[in-house]
Order: sequence, then structure tokens, then C-alpha cells
Amino acid sequence: MTILKANSCSIGRKSDEIWTGHRLLEKSPYRNDTLLPKLFHTFIFTHSKRPQPMNVVVVGGGPAGAMCALMLARGGASVSLVHWDGYSSDGVELVSGRARRTIERHSPDFFRRVAPGVEVHETISLWGTPEPVTLSAMFNPWGAGMAVERGLFDQALRNMAGAAGVSVIADTKVMDIERRDDQWQLSMRSAGTRSAETGSNPVCARFLVLATGRASTLFLDRSPVTESSQVALMASLPTQHDEPVPHMPNELPNELPNEALNHTLYVEAMDNGWWYALPARDGGHFAGFCISRDEIRRRQATLREFFVRELDRTRLLAPSMSSRAYNLRITGRTADAVAFSRMAGNGWIAVGDAAYAPDPLSGMGIELAIESAQLGATALLAAAQHNAMPEFAEYEDAIRKRASQHGKTAAHHYGRL
Ligand SMILES: Cc1cc2nc3c(=O)[nH]c(=O)nc-3n(C[C@H](O)[C@H](O)[C@H](O)COP(=O)(O)OP(=O)(O)OC[C@H]3O[C@@H](n4cnc5c(N)ncnc54)[C@H](O)[C@@H]3O)c2cc1C
Repeated sequence: MTILKANSCSIGRKSDEIWTGHRLLEKSPYRNDTLLPKLFHTFIFTHSKRPQPMNVVVVGGGPAGAMCALMLARGGASVSLVHWDGYSSDGVELVSGRARRTIERHSPDFFRRVAPGVEVHETISLWGTPEPVTLSAMFNPWGAGMAVERGLFDQALRNMAGAAGVSVIADTKVMDIERRDDQWQLSMRSAGTRSAETGSNPVCARFLVLATGRASTLFLDRSPVTESSQVALMASLPTQHDEPVPHMPNELPNELPNEALNHTLYVEAMDNGWWYALPARDGGHFAGFCISRDEIRRRQATLREFFVRELDRTRLLAPSMSSRAYNLRITGRTADAVAFSRMAGNGWIAVGDAAYAPDPLSGMGIELAIESAQLGATALLAAAQHNAMPEFAEYEDAIRKRASQHGKTAAHHYGRL
């Protein structure tokens, strides 16, 4: 392990390029995107100053960080992305139909070849109704979502950013961030073979994007507005097959052909929490039980016994998922909605969970992470073009509005129980 303290700034790859307003706008892949607020146009077409070089450092390479870095690079900025896996999500998550479309706009083959997952055709839920309710993805205007393995998915997004010109600094944890003379300077701790390379080229930049997920309280004197009280216990569960299903010759040994897979997302409310289960590429499921911390503390059994006993009480999940696997590995994760007291400021923005982490019930965390990455990248490109160092108040307002809508929807669903 090496601790690196930044002492001189490396200016990015395209630092000598001057971007005119029209060129930036033409280069932006989001120029026709209806989601984007007036920010870009307002800034670009009202200034006449010569723009400064646009260099940005993004901290954290989950979906928000990787997508923001990619969009900034495609918009003409010089971008470094510092990533460390220590707080990364594992297991399977749903990429919503809308998030899927956004990613496929950048890489049409993404879910076919780069990060294959299982297409989710329907949701079956038992949530305040006596009988299960089935919702077909056919009625989603954005189409079916994908259940993906998060490690593979995140790595594929970082590779996509790297291919777009982002300088990806892997296996490196940002320990501290300082502002000196209008530049952000990062102290980093690097592991593995790339430490020497990083040491000779410390990262400094004019703009900072915090994309560290829920772990972002360490930086810039921010705090979560709400205390976490919910936890998710999660595990991979094999399917209860009567007969073994044959593998296709060219499939990976533990992956089943598409037609042998389940394509259903299950959601089930219980008296003490709620379950979800997503299909996995090996034919099994990845299941999570969201429950209060207090409830877990009160249990009178091991975590494994508790998990299995609670799973056995479910009506939807238990019949098709085996909890008897001898190697059941249970992981835990903070699971309630969290908003941070500050989401942007002078020369910096937070994107994804580092700004607002939604309730996992929605299955929209990745979608919101990508949406905020897109809004954030647009605001930064506009600020650079304007030669300004704004507080990014419009960006912060947009995220707060989204968080408030989202909070109301979640409250409505929990209120139905
Ligand atoms: C139980 C549960 C289930 C969920 N299921 C779904 C789902 O099915 N679908 C969905 O859309 N959303 C789901 N979510 C939400 C989703 O996981 C998040 O919203 C999403 O991961 C946010 O992406 P992000 O890039 O903002 O943060 P993250 O995915 O947390 O990525 C941040 C990255 O930054 C790295 N990092 C942190 N600190 C540093 C540092 N100092 N230096 C360098 N790197 C650092 C971390 O290791 C991590 O890899 C779920 C959430 C929970 C809790």
C-alpha cells in the first residue's frame, strides 16, 4: 500500500483545447435529450468569454461515476476517474428498462456481449393484496430491464468510459480532498501494481465529481439527512430443480441457456420487512430481505438460521428457491433512502447515491444514478464553457425534486401495507 499526497497538478489530456459554445453543444451526445434542463443552453449561449481548459476528477467508479466520466469525456473534457472497489455492491441488481436504453445508446451490444444479464419480463408481487399481482414488462414504455451481476456491470461501464478517453485509475482509494487555488487535489492510497504510475502523476483538477455512493460522508463536510435504520440481508439461492438442466456447448460452465432461465422479479411484503428475488445467469436467484436493524439485533438465531427461517415463511419465493445450500453466503447492506445535506457546491457536484440514495424497493437506484450523472455532466460542461465556478444550484434543485417525488412514491407503497 502506498499513500499518495498530491502536491502538483497534472492538467488533463485535452487541456490545451479551447471549446466554443457551439462545438461543445454539437459534441455533446445529450444535445437532443428531453431530460436535460435549460442549464446547458442558458450557459452556453449567454457568454462571450474565452473558456478555460476543462479538467475533471471523478471519485468512485460505480454506475454514477463511470457514466458521468463517460459523458464528460464525450463532451470534450479531460477526465480522470479514481476507483476503489472497497464499498462496491455485489450480487445481482435490476437495471431498469430506461437505464438500459440509456446505456445501449452508448453501446448497443452492452447487455448482449459486454455485461450479459437476464432480461426481466415480469414482476410478481404480494404487496398489500391477498393474491399475487403480475405486472408484465410489456407495459413498460421503456421495455424490459436486465438483472445483472453488479461487479461485471460496473467494470464494463468503467471500460466503456476508458474507451471514450477517460483516464481510469483503478484500485486506488481517495483518502482526502483539498481545494487549493481553484484546484481540487486528491490524497490517494493505491494498492497493487499501478501505485508507482499513480505516484508520478498525482490527480488535480478544476472540477470534482463525488460518485462514492453512500460512503461519501467522509468528504466535504457533508452528512446524511436521515440516519440509516434498514438493512438488506442478501444471498444467492439455487433453484429447486427436479432434473439437471443441460448446458449449451458455448456457455460458461455455470451459465444456462436463455430459455432455461427464469425471467421474473419477485417482491413480497412480510409483517417484519420485505423480500425481493432477481433471476441469475446460473438459473438460480439472488434474494434480499430488507428489515430494520433492530429486528436483526433482536433475533435469537444465527444470521443464516434467521435468513433461512424468514425465507421459508414467504409465499412467493420459498416454493422455487432453495435456502438449503450448504454454502449459503449472506451479506448485509444499508438499505433505506438517504439524502445528503449538500449535493453540490463551488466547483463540485455529487452524483448517484452520493447525492441521493433511493429506497431499494423502487429498483431505480441505477436509473437515478445515471440520470444524475447526465444532469451533472451537462451542468459541468456548461460551467466550464461559461468560465464560471458556480454553486450548481440548479443541478442540486433538480436532484432534490427527484428525491422528493421518489420519497412520496415510496411512502405511498409502504402506506398500503
Ligand atoms: C439492498 C439494495 C438493493 C438494490 N437493488 C437495486 C436494483 O435492483 N436496481 C437498482 O437500480 N438499484 C438498486 N439498488 C440501488 C443501487 O445499488 C444504487 O443506487 C447504485 O449502486 C448507485 O450507484 P453509484 O454509482 O451512485 O454508487 P455505488 O454503486 O455505491 O458506487 C460507488 C463506488 O465508489 C467507490 N468508492 C467509494 N469511496 C471511494 C473512495 N474514497 N475512493 C475511490 N472509490 C470509492 C465504491 O467502492 C463504489 O464502487 C439497491 C440498493 C440496495 C441497498
